[in-house]
Amino acid sequence: VVDYKDGEWQQPEILPYGNLALSPATSAIHYGQSVFEGMKAYKDANGDILLFRPLENYKRLNISAERMCMPELPEDIFMQGLEQLLRMDAAWVPPTDGCALYIRPFMFATDDFIGVRPSSSYKFVIFTCPVGAYYGQPLKVAIEPKYVRSAEGGAGYAKAAGNYGAALLPARKMQEKGYHQLIWTDAKEHKFIEESGTMNVMFVIDGKLITPPVSTTILKGITRDSVLTLARDLGYTVEERKVSVDELVEAHKAGKLQEAFGTGTAATVAQIATIHYNGADMDLPAVETREISNRVAAELEKVKTGRAADTHNWVYRISL
Ligand code: PMP
Repeated sequence: VVDYKDGEWQQPEILPYGNLALSPATSAIHYGQSVFEGMKAYKDANGDILLFRPLENYKRLNISAERMCMPELPEDIFMQGLEQLLRMDAAWVPPTDGCALYIRPFMFATDDFIGVRPSSSYKFVIFTCPVGAYYGQPLKVAIEPKYVRSAEGGAGYAKAAGNYGAALLPARKMQEKGYHQLIWTDAKEHKFIEESGTMNVMFVIDGKLITPPVSTTILKGITRDSVLTLARDLGYTVEERKVSVDELVEAHKAGKLQEAFGTGTAATVAQIATIHYNGADMDLPAVETREISNRVAAELEKVKTGRAADTHNWVYRISL
């Protein structure tokens, strides 16, 4: 835990897990200055703790903070905080069996003040929590026909708490109809695929791996970038471009929509079994037949857990 006040980050301290005491006027609760990250730690065969691309999470936290008019966090506070905490929590970092220690860094506004203005004080906190696999089964997703998550000029590219709050109602409505997740479309025409609730989305159409490009309206996923890089390494054709809903429907009709999946730190590579659109379910080929996502997911898992060569220097190792 570290406080920002009088224009400076103060001395970080490690506290036992417990409640934070907050004023009812705490600025973040009312005006939403709250940003976060999600990471996972694994343990390799030697018992070293491995973090996957933690500097990318650090950079994204500051990108989110900037959008929400919050101060920049210095790199050493983030990295030293992670390292210190993980050394203390080492017993909770599981060996590589599908589980991980989840890490939640976050920053929020702490001014005890009613009035819409950027807070002058903030708290940056990291806590950890053991987790199992996020989704146990291939997902049924539905393309959201009405609500939008993000529009150009908005804060969609930030990992800001409010983005998730605004997504809960549409997601709940889809879940009531039997779908696990929804897929957002663009705010202007509801025509192009954006991303899912906690994942970027990718498709294999006619042997090519296709995903919407990085933009101001989707979160720039670290898993997304890693999957695309590994797919290119493995020799697959990768296209980062707009994907329309019509293209998916046409490809499905022609038998060319071979794979669909989501990517995210929590979900890793989550297979999509069914995509619902406009009153109909598009069922996709069986997960076992999906060459690209299965190969890339296996490769990514190996790199993250130290069982494959780390050719891109993605792994941050903490030797105990
Ligand atoms: N999009 C959203 C909205 C998310 O919450 C996440 C999870 N952080 C992602 C995409 C995937 O990002 P990453 O691969 O960095 O976890």
